[in-house]
Amino acid sequence: MFKHIGRKVRGLAVALCAIGMLGAVGAAVYLYLSKTMQLVPCILIGVGGLVVSWIVSWVMYAIGDTHAKLERLEDKLVPKPNYSAYLAENTALRGTCEICGRITDLIPAKIEDKMGTRYRKVCRECFAASNCKEAE
Ligand SMILES: [Zn+2]
Repeated sequence: MFKHIGRKVRGLAVALCAIGMLGAVGAAVYLYLSKTMQLVPCILIGVGGLVVSWIVSWVMYAIGDTHAKLERLEDKLVPKPNYSAYLAENTALRGTCEICGRITDLIPAKIEDKMGTRYRKVCRECFAASNCKEAE
């Protein structure tokens, strides 16, 4: 809703500027045609409204534009957690379990039994079931 608010404020500034200009011209034409005012004050209202609406929209547009540019700058300057940083700390080993054949996260395991000592990459379930120790 409030994401990329700078772009929305810029759009709103343009829309309000157009509405203000049309409103000022419309009001001037209406006041002249309904013979409420003379021609010169009507022209002043129309032109004055146009100019004021245009200048006021600059302020709003500038605020929106500043925010949009700050957002772009923030994207470049603030480091974001990324996948490679995640992998550097969590060496999740993924592949096929060497006991059951399931494709999942694996644990390097040291299996010691009557057949001797073996090193395998196994899933959690096989790790628990096969009485494994974590291999270094
Ligand atoms: Zn397994």
